[in-house]
Amino acid sequence: MIESFLFDLDDTLIDTKIYRQIYPEVVKRLSTQLKISETELFLKVDKLGLKKNKYGNYDSGELSKSFKQLNLYYSILETAIKVNKSLHDNVLEVFSSLKNKGKRIGIVSNSMHRTIELYIQKYQLKVDFVFSSDDAGCNKDQERYWKRLIKKEKLTPKNCLVIGDNLHEDVEVPSSLGFKTFYLDNVKKLKEVLMF
Ligand SMILES: [Mg+2]
Repeated sequence: MIESFLFDLDDTLIDTKIYRQIYPEVVKRLSTQLKISETELFLKVDKLGLKKNKYGNYDSGELSKSFKQLNLYYSILETAIKVNKSLHDNVLEVFSSLKNKGKRIGIVSNSMHRTIELYIQKYQLKVDFVFSSDDAGCNKDQERYWKRLIKKEKLTPKNCLVIGDNLHEDVEVPSSLGFKTFYLDNVKKLKEVLMF
C-alpha cells in the first residue's frame, strides 16, 4: 500500500514557463553584474560543465549559483513568482484528497530549498517534507540522491509513489531502488495518482 507520495516540482507541480520568462533577464543582469558580455558569460558556463535543459537553456538558478549571484537570481525569481500563476491545475485538490486519506506528501526535487519554499509559501502547499538537491548534494539522476532520501525520511521504497515528468530521474532511477513510480507524461494526468 502506498503511504507516501513523492512529487517532483518542475513540470509536475509547477509550470516551468516562469523560468523561460526570467531567463533573458537573468542572463542580462548577470553579464552586467560581472562586467562581461553575454558571449563571454556562456563561454565560462560551458567550461564549468553546466548542462542545458530540454528547452535549450541553462538552469537560471544553477547559472547564477555558479557565479555566486544567488541574491540577484532570487530578486528576479521572487518577483516573477508573485505576479505569475505557476501552480498546475488540480495540485491543491490532489494534495487535499491525499491528506484526507492520511497519506504523507513530499516534494522531491533538484531545485534549491529556497526556490521550493517560495512556491510552498505562495500556494500554501501542505506538505510533510521537502527533499532537495541541497540535502542530497547531487541531482535525482544519481542513486545517491534516493539513498539519502530514504535514510533522511525513513522511507520504505515499495510503499512510496514517485511522481514526475522525467523518465530517467523520476522513473528509471527510483524504480531501480524499489520505489513505485508514476510517469507524468502529461500534467492532465495528475489526478490519476489518487487511484493508487
Ligand atoms: Mg520535473
